[in-house]
Amino acid sequence: MNKILVTGGSGLVGRYLKQIMPNAYYISSNDYDLTREHEVESLFKKNGFKIVIHLAARVGGIHHNIKEPVKYFEENILMNTLMLKYSHKNRVKHFLTLLSSCIYPDKVKKFPIKEKNLFEGAPHESLFSYSYAKRSMAVQIDAYNKKFKTNYNYIIPCNLYGEFDKFGDIEGHFVGALIEKIIEAKKNNKNYISLFGDGTPKRQFMHAKDLAKIIKLTIDNKITENFNVATNENYSVAKIAQLALKACNFKDAKIFFDKRMPNGQMRKDIDISKLKKLFPKFKAIKLIDGIKQVYTNRNKSKNV
Ligand code: NAP
Repeated sequence: MNKILVTGGSGLVGRYLKQIMPNAYYISSNDYDLTREHEVESLFKKNGFKIVIHLAARVGGIHHNIKEPVKYFEENILMNTLMLKYSHKNRVKHFLTLLSSCIYPDKVKKFPIKEKNLFEGAPHESLFSYSYAKRSMAVQIDAYNKKFKTNYNYIIPCNLYGEFDKFGDIEGHFVGALIEKIIEAKKNNKNYISLFGDGTPKRQFMHAKDLAKIIKLTIDNKITENFNVATNENYSVAKIAQLALKACNFKDAKIFFDKRMPNGQMRKDIDISKLKKLFPKFKAIKLIDGIKQVYTNRNKSKNV
């Protein structure tokens, strides 16, 4: 019997985790709809999981969040509540889930943001629903730990990218959409790309492969603290776009910023001193190298 359950197994993080933890039991929404109580109940009934890595979530870029606030709130609240409830009911020893750096307060007194700052102000309005649903997961985990003396925990990662990302303009994440724009511009012999906003907001991006490694280390070392995960690189959107042009051999192309579109949060870099203390030897893939990898593989898969 498989002792480790991973939800969100078909997603960006789940697919990298599967490469390094192949013996866990991976599920997607095709196997179980985790917003439906009877499906979650039957998932646990058939199996004796000891560890649950809950990655499943309604996740998307800023534009899709603005378009579908009800989905981002309700689906996440339902999935998280049911997964936590049935994990505890079925005596799961370690429940680990992921929040996100974008749920931190929009305005903080001091950067980089520490774990303890999570509830010190409202999140950015463009991500209200997603953020409050994710913050509720933190409250729920804390409540279970207090009431039932469990040691459940969460990781708060920065923005991610990778080969298994969503690459569209609307539902996609920034780096994936950027790579896709470069591929399309090259294909159509255009010497420019255009981006939403004015290019000034700063962002941290991590390769999802690196986050999967951190998740495995957390499970293997039975770590039950809550902690931020990001790289040392915190760059403006304009700089990330320039890095991407370089990584994708498109250096002479121009970048146009569509200033009519929203910027989102101006800055949200998170403090990674806890992460460094927990895993001092861990080294993240540099953004330019990660983009090059994703671009090369995406290009190959599109051309076959
Ligand atoms: P993703 O690529 O969007 O994948 C989402 C996963 O959740 C898929 O496996 C999906 O299954 C599953 N799922 C969605 N709704 C479901 C439902 N109702 N029932 C069962 N499964 C459902 O997400 P990701 O980027 O890997 O994100 C993983 C975790 O990291 C999430 O908790 C997210 O909040 C967090 N995170 C992500 C980022 C980022 O930039 N991507 C940044 C910080 C934190 P299907 O494929 O069948 O739909």
